[in-house]
Amino acid sequence: MAQKKTRKRTKSARPAAKRRSSAVKKKKLTRKQIRNRHVLIFILCLIGFAGMLYLGISALRYAGEEEAARRSEVSSGENSGGGPQQWQKEGAPYIDVQLLTPNEYSRPQIAIEQVKYIAIHYTANPGATAQANRDYFENLASTHETKVSSHFVVGLEGEVIQCIPTSEMSYATNSRNVDTVSIECCHMDETGMFQDATYQSVVKLAAWLCTRFGLTEENVIRHYDVTGKNCPKYYVENPDAWIRMKADIASQIQEDYVLQENLRYQ
Ligand SMILES: [Zn+2]
Repeated sequence: MAQKKTRKRTKSARPAAKRRSSAVKKKKLTRKQIRNRHVLIFILCLIGFAGMLYLGISALRYAGEEEAARRSEVSSGENSGGGPQQWQKEGAPYIDVQLLTPNEYSRPQIAIEQVKYIAIHYTANPGATAQANRDYFENLASTHETKVSSHFVVGLEGEVIQCIPTSEMSYATNSRNVDTVSIECCHMDETGMFQDATYQSVVKLAAWLCTRFGLTEENVIRHYDVTGKNCPKYYVENPDAWIRMKADIASQIQEDYVLQENLRYQ
């Protein structure tokens, strides 16, 4: 009996050991499962993080693209897009777009309903560069010195900086601000005569703007023609020089239309 009991005990001990080992196995399995679960959670987190990163980058890229599209759209004044390289193919000089920070002193963001005139000005500040003029407009946002600005500034070396989209008003041409795109030109001395490079650029810029807004050289005016102000000085004091500039703009308009027509068939 005792032996039987022992046997029984040993017999019963075996399954107990088996149970223990299976319990251990179960425990081991559970640990494995937990580990697997952790790995799974880690992977899911990683996927989630990657997803969020992707969304973030996409949002940033989208915002960037939207900003670029907005810049080129508002810069052209039309919805045809483009950009400095495209504009050059259409006959424009290279335009360095450096839009002013919107502010009530130089970029009030008042819409121009329809561009009817292109007005030429001189800076009345001999030797000053296009960049310096643009930065002066930009600083008015904090200095509040006066209200003045221009859509474009043409520099001493013919460089062109755009400060304001052509769909918005600038503060340059008084009563004509409402329907006029203004161009300020830098000059070397008190005569106000434009350097060759400046002259070439302003002719090309004015002509290209005319093609863009369906205007002719007759719509290119001087500040003087609006208010009687001696601006642009040299081209008020020398009417022949002004007539010549308008003739040069007229022939450039024709050249631009040919360029633009050819682009259409490319
Ligand atoms: Zn002027």
